[in-house]
Amino acid sequence: MRELAWINGKTMALADACIPLEDRGFFFGDGIYEVCRIYEAKPFYLQEHLQRLQDSAAEILLALPFSSAELANIALDLIREADCREGWLYLQVTRGTAPRTHAFPPAHVKPTLVLFVRPITPDRVGDTAGGAACITIPDTRWLHCNVKTINLLPNLLAKEKAKQAGAYDAIFYRPGGVISEASASNIFALIDGTVRTHPLSNLILPGITRRVVLKIMERLSLDYDERAFTVDELKVATEVWLTASVSEIVPVTSVDGKPVGDGAPGELVKRLIEEYGKVVRQYCRD
Ligand code: PLP
Repeated sequence: MRELAWINGKTMALADACIPLEDRGFFFGDGIYEVCRIYEAKPFYLQEHLQRLQDSAAEILLALPFSSAELANIALDLIREADCREGWLYLQVTRGTAPRTHAFPPAHVKPTLVLFVRPITPDRVGDTAGGAACITIPDTRWLHCNVKTINLLPNLLAKEKAKQAGAYDAIFYRPGGVISEASASNIFALIDGTVRTHPLSNLILPGITRRVVLKIMERLSLDYDERAFTVDELKVATEVWLTASVSEIVPVTSVDGKPVGDGAPGELVKRLIEEYGKVVRQYCRD
């Protein structure tokens, strides 16, 4: 495949793609984004990602330059042109290029729309089939985590802290020890026989993968409870897993150095991984 970018109507090699210095994304992180996994040349749950982009845009008072249908066509054309079969699609919209000042630019300034496609590489997904170690860390992010903003500094610091601790990822907790999500994933835990995950709110990103996993559980008549859990409860969970578009379902086998269950991926998460694979294959056939 070819790594291609699309910026405001122009397609180019990703390596040649440039954004003006005064883009508000660069100065302020004044923008939103989406990451969508591509399987067999099909962007998985693209409509849901585009709906979330619309929701994020509304939350930050940004008028998107294109409808979801138009964005889908741009994305599908780019995937085709790049000849991408297994990869990921990135979409970003910022409030455009204008002289640096905090106030929003005048209405004639058009948002900057960027898309690119890249292949799935091992460094991007990691080898997590055997389970991943996580640490817990205070959630110092803002109170609009439902917005998929490009302001990711707390998430990056959390990931780096995990890396320095020799772990795969960091799991955020709010005051009172309430677990929200991980640095770039939603989190589920099997506690006292019940699968729990934080309810949708301003404290978590409404993950598309989270939604797919909940749908799988419903279809399999597996009970779950969208009810937050604490660090203490996480420490007695018998299974824990993370969900995100690119990494899919990652079993967490230790938290803060303590094994989860017997320290290996549990039966439930293994089943969900298998079922998720079936959903992907079905999606590609439809
Ligand atoms: N939570 C955060 C903070 C994320 O950054 C992500 C993905 O990037 C997710 C959850 C998972 O979202 P999705 O399943 O839509 O990829």
